[in-house]
Amino acid sequence: MILPDSTLGVLGGGQLGRMFCVAARTMGYRVWVLDPDPGSPAGSIADRHLKADYLDPAALEDMAEHCAAITTEFENVPAETLEFLESRTPVRPGSRAVAIARDRILEKTFIREQGLATAPFFAIEKSEDLHTACAGLNMPALLKTAQLGYDGKGQFAVNNIEDARSGFRQLQETPCVLEERVDLAQEVSVILARGSNGDVAVYPLGENLHVNGILDTTRVPANIDKKTAEQAKAMAIRLAEAMQYCGVLAVEFFLTRGGELLINEMAPRPHNSGHYTLDAALTSQFEQQVRTLCGLPPGSTELLSPVVMVNILGDLWKDGTPHWEQLFRHPQVKLHLYGKHHARAGRKMGHYNCLAKELPQASSIAQEIRAALSPAE
Ligand code: AMP
Repeated sequence: MILPDSTLGVLGGGQLGRMFCVAARTMGYRVWVLDPDPGSPAGSIADRHLKADYLDPAALEDMAEHCAAITTEFENVPAETLEFLESRTPVRPGSRAVAIARDRILEKTFIREQGLATAPFFAIEKSEDLHTACAGLNMPALLKTAQLGYDGKGQFAVNNIEDARSGFRQLQETPCVLEERVDLAQEVSVILARGSNGDVAVYPLGENLHVNGILDTTRVPANIDKKTAEQAKAMAIRLAEAMQYCGVLAVEFFLTRGGELLINEMAPRPHNSGHYTLDAALTSQFEQQVRTLCGLPPGSTELLSPVVMVNILGDLWKDGTPHWEQLFRHPQVKLHLYGKHHARAGRKMGHYNCLAKELPQASSIAQEIRAALSPAE
């Protein structure tokens, strides 16, 4: 076990890295952050911020030497970086799991190999693959880049082979997946923490609402029957076990109108849809990241209160500074801002958690705040 007063490393200095730093420092650890951005949200609160490229040999050497264990806040860290660090110090989750989660072709193939369902898809490595894919799928479909796509970026709606060809060209013929657009009833996610000895703690499901491909709201408990919820949890655990995963894993699901549960994607780290755990669960997903990284047993995932988490995007600053005082009027609402200096449209700037005895009450507080925060009001 790695105990307090040790130094932990995190690759990536965004909001997820920042919330990891807060959890680690609360528990008495020191934290080093590697991120080239001098103004990164995590770097500004770390014990040490290495402002270097993810492939910088001196920075990696420094981290390997000083950090008792290293984790990551995003899956696009170069594979070589994780492999080098892994040869020197514990890296959790390991490079194999991160490699699977970073590439939609590997990820969906892996999920299918475990006997778990995804939306029907084909891997597109070259333009000739489009013909077979379009013939084998029901339209409409979505063309998604295999790597570096997030929040709906790098995606094209496809109704026929011409759309698919045009989308693939616009994506510079980079490897993609073409997948059927499924008839969504709900989107839910499962977050779990799995320790190095295989102990698993699973959070209650979050029900997610996306707007323009970006997560807008997570509601917990999800409005979903018990059997489906248990099935989703079992599917997530199955994936974690198949990867011999150590760390926090998020698995996003589509629930179709036909009642089918399909895995959309997974993230090898804490996830935006788990931010509710910061205020409404006994252990936050970031504390779980610290615990699993340090070889400690996962903490309790007990839900303390129904909760609605609302994301705050840069769009809210369009007409000036948001009316934070309106949010602070509510004693059961918790604001989390990430310390980002520039508010751009679509950029995740923070979130707030609305807690209440009953979920509808939490939802109406969330709606009230959304309207009141806007500087245009
Ligand atoms: P992704 O980047 O794959 O998570 O997609 C972002 C969002 O687009 C998802 O959360 C869904 O709301 C929607 N979406 C993505 N893929 C599909 C699909 N195959 N069928 C229906 N909706 C989808």
